[in-house]
Amino acid sequence: MNIHEYQAKEILKSFAVSVPHGLLAQSSDEAVQSAKALGGSLWVVKAQIHAGGRGKAGGVRVCQSLADVKSAADALLGSVLVSKQTGPEGKKVHKIYIEEGLDIAQEFYLALLVDRELECLSFMASPSGGMDIEDVAAHQPEKIATFPIQDIQTANLSDMAAFLGLHDELVGKFESLVKKIYQMFVAQDAAMLEINPLVLTCSGDLVPLDAKLIADDNALYRQEAMVAMRDLAEEDSRELEAAQFGLNYIQLDGTIGCIVNGAGLAMATMDMIHMKGSKPANFLDVGGGVTVPAVTEAFKLLFSDQHVKAVLVNIFGGIVRCDIIAQGLLEAIKTHPMNIPVIMRLVGTNEEAGQNLVKDAGLKVYWAKDLDEAASIAVKVTS
Ligand code: GDP
Ligand code: MG
Repeated sequence: MNIHEYQAKEILKSFAVSVPHGLLAQSSDEAVQSAKALGGSLWVVKAQIHAGGRGKAGGVRVCQSLADVKSAADALLGSVLVSKQTGPEGKKVHKIYIEEGLDIAQEFYLALLVDRELECLSFMASPSGGMDIEDVAAHQPEKIATFPIQDIQTANLSDMAAFLGLHDELVGKFESLVKKIYQMFVAQDAAMLEINPLVLTCSGDLVPLDAKLIADDNALYRQEAMVAMRDLAEEDSRELEAAQFGLNYIQLDGTIGCIVNGAGLAMATMDMIHMKGSKPANFLDVGGGVTVPAVTEAFKLLFSDQHVKAVLVNIFGGIVRCDIIAQGLLEAIKTHPMNIPVIMRLVGTNEEAGQNLVKDAGLKVYWAKDLDEAASIAVKVTS
């Protein structure tokens, strides 16, 4: 689960990390009131969307007057921001965050993540943080380093400070900041925290200017405060709908929709589609204890997705009964006509009953005996 920048900063603040003062606004009047309340003469108006790359997309505006704040707020609220991370359809801006502006001397990159290979948390750091970090990663990878932490109490953090090129008088501040960030990460059951940029201000403070926090979904049951921060408007509506039916669905950018039982088989199905030269439109695992309403929902989701040019059903029925899959298809087409090819590999428990249901309804689908054949047909009919 993702949360907004302003929420991640709230959490950082509760762990005694000093972040810039800021206020949330949902109208330009509120934005001006917020800027007045913050005081000073430099403000930054920041679009709050669950995607980065806002700066380059015009979603972060430095303002030198209240009039600037108002026009920045007017321009951002309700607009659709298209950044490298939003995809071409962009994300609509519903909220903006008004922050006191800071004078920046240097921008660093600092992230903390779960390092599965080393089985510990690792920091990633770079002295060249800011909006061009992707270019740095591509062209100057030596400027980004990883620092695995086995035990934060005894960890030697001076290597990281040295890599960032911090002067001696900053090292203490940096180490204390890193420890707080680490404690927060563990306490919040985070999966990833990215602070880009972490800035050195002209007055010599180290301040997180941006914060992106991804929570570990498996731990949400014990993170009530963070769950309350969830912003459903930012999440994929199809994925939310699917989740309500217990479907494990993730939207992807190809054209072949998939309905599969079991995560492993779903992965194999996607691999097979790739091997045959096309791309899946989604990952969809209907799970084990699947019901007719859930399968109906799965077909409806794919039939109503204009990116989907064909649906590949790959069911290897064990606990899942093939007739339930067929019934789901018949239910779905009552409201969502089958206007695209459906390729069915339906084998296992009750396979004959399932196939007969489809045939008796007079539905023209492509039958495949195995996954290889199903994927070949799907790729052929969509290319
Ligand atoms: P992102 O592009 O979505 O990652 O948004 P960020 O929050 O990282 O902001 C992008 C850039 O805006 C930063 O790298 C800074 O250069 C600039 N920026 C953000 N806040 C301030 C500020 O208070 N003062 C100044 N001068 N620049 C800022
Ligand atoms: Mg950033």
